[in-house]
Amino acid sequence: MAGSSIVVDRRKKLGWAARLYLPTMLRGLAVTGRHFVGNLRALVLGKERRSFAVRYPEERVDFPDAFRGMPVLVAREDGSPRCVGCPHCAAACPADCIRIVPAARVAAGGAAVWAGAVGPQPPERFDIDMSRCIFCGFCEDVCPEEAIVMSRLVELATDDRAALQYDLEALLVPAELLSRRLSFLARSSARDEPNAGSGD
Ligand code: SF4
Ligand code: SF4
Repeated sequence: MAGSSIVVDRRKKLGWAARLYLPTMLRGLAVTGRHFVGNLRALVLGKERRSFAVRYPEERVDFPDAFRGMPVLVAREDGSPRCVGCPHCAAACPADCIRIVPAARVAAGGAAVWAGAVGPQPPERFDIDMSRCIFCGFCEDVCPEEAIVMSRLVELATDDRAALQYDLEALLVPAELLSRRLSFLARSSARDEPNAGSGD
């Protein structure tokens, strides 16, 4: 289920009534009152009450596709990472929590060279310190391969800081499990194309 969004025009000048916040408060009270009366009536009549509480952890919220949980690496069908170790994500990360060690390769002649010299290769190491991550999504934004995406994983709480150090193996998630996020990114980039919707 995709979430809905409200577009807010921050340049719009508020009138005096809006600046008093009274109409908004009254609308909020009316909504609260409507639910209170409805649930009270259901209680008196012995009918099922309408509940808006999510009884976590037995019940879970289905986050919208735009939700940003823990960043993870997308795995190809053969299990290898899409990541080519470029490393734009590490440069863009404001929390400085991504560490990448590019893979060393052996060029013709036997000399060791960095992967960049022999074409894109998955990195040797890819670590994220999730105790520092602020879930900003910049790593996802700058990745040219859609190799790192924001997942729905949020249950990271622990009292062991070392458990928040995720390596390449722990970060890899099969692409099919990330299909909603990948489709969302594809829709977003199509919408952001300069000629999107112009019929060109
Ligand atoms: S995840 Fe993307 S941006 Fe980061 S190193 Fe890999 S390919 Fe580059
Ligand atoms: S979500 Fe933001 S803070 Fe977290 S790893 Fe990506 S760029 Fe860094």
